[in-house]
Amino acid sequence: MNQNSDKAELSTAVMPDENGFFGEFGGRFVPPMLEPIMQEITEAYQKIKDDPVFKEELFQLQKHYTGRPSPVFHAQNLSKRLGGAQIYLKREDLNHTGAHKINHCLGEALLAKKMGKKKLIAETGAGQHGVALATAAALVGLECDIYMGEVDIYKEHPNVVRMKILGARVIPATHGLKTLKEAVDSAFEAYMGDPVNQLYAIGSVVGPHPFPMMVRDFQAVVGREAKEQFNEINGKLPDNLVACVGGGSNAIGLFSAFLNDESVNIYGVEPAGTSFKTGEHAATLTHGKPGMIHGYKCYLLQDEKGEPAAVNTVASGLDYPGVGPQHSYLKDLKRVNYESINDKEAIDAFMQLAREEGIIPALESAHAVAYAMKLAPTLSADQTILVNLSGRGDKDIDYVVEKFGEQYGIKA
Ligand SMILES: *Cc1c(COP(=O)(O)O)cnc(C)c1O
Repeated sequence: MNQNSDKAELSTAVMPDENGFFGEFGGRFVPPMLEPIMQEITEAYQKIKDDPVFKEELFQLQKHYTGRPSPVFHAQNLSKRLGGAQIYLKREDLNHTGAHKINHCLGEALLAKKMGKKKLIAETGAGQHGVALATAAALVGLECDIYMGEVDIYKEHPNVVRMKILGARVIPATHGLKTLKEAVDSAFEAYMGDPVNQLYAIGSVVGPHPFPMMVRDFQAVVGREAKEQFNEINGKLPDNLVACVGGGSNAIGLFSAFLNDESVNIYGVEPAGTSFKTGEHAATLTHGKPGMIHGYKCYLLQDEKGEPAAVNTVASGLDYPGVGPQHSYLKDLKRVNYESINDKEAIDAFMQLAREEGIIPALESAHAVAYAMKLAPTLSADQTILVNLSGRGDKDIDYVVEKFGEQYGIKA
């Protein structure tokens, strides 16, 4: 890449531009009545993000509530077994609630509280974002409404119960296919009903400006910590970074700290599902083309009519036809390599990490582990790979054993 000009553009401090664009991607395409509300959120965020009081409050919660910094662990058994590069794991799975999502949910909840909002609302698919948001809402003292497809409510029963225990209302979306897309419709409609007293807390680096920027900034703590921790262990930068990409929040959280470090190769890993036929994967950056979804522009998997396509993967947290605008931009800049891993490879990595290291990863994170497992043997033993282990796999164990247990000698 052209170092000098791109370096300035890549600096996270100056991205996105004031209208929320990362190159041609991002922006804010919302109904006119929401425009001033989004502007108000942007301004409130700009004001508090460097406010020492806000920063200290967030820092204290990250430390004493979430349990940050999460460790960086050298997966020596796995590295040895594979032969080649040394694999390190950034343990976001050890956060309170078991994944990286709590990082931005705490930030969004604190912002909502400072803005005088009464309620957080969001949609959820598998329930992971819903649980993290309900947790943050309980902590800071806000009401919380989570919209969820009726089909998902049935499928993801434990998370539904968690949200209710945490004091959130779980509101079923009962139209259409009754899954994530319908939940977004319902949540959006509810938000439009009272955008003054509610904050729509988006669950990844997606949606209209300022969300891709704000969620990234709240996740950037992952990369800042990892850079320092890795240097403490090895006295240098990692040679390679790997993270899974659904909307892209855990990935950009890790990548942000290293974008200007030329020597670091960066890999984002998307779900290849069962095949690359439309509807059987969610590898947006590898197979999509520029389009619009949920108020912003990005690479998008589209059907023949240009509408967001159906998507599929074993990892429900990666099941999204769009992707963060900054990732779309980083792809075009060729700063990040976007690769994909299929269901079978992800399941295999899930089992291998459990058996080699005693760590059961989320199926989402298993996509990143699987890619690191492919990459390691192609590199020499003095090379390193730092993987963002975005979450723990407790939520996935029943599904994995029921569907794939027999192959690994496990009876359901
Ligand atoms: C939700 C989720 C993801 C995907 O979200 P991103 O915004 O792409 O990070 C990845 N891993 C886990 C554990 C998740 O819960």
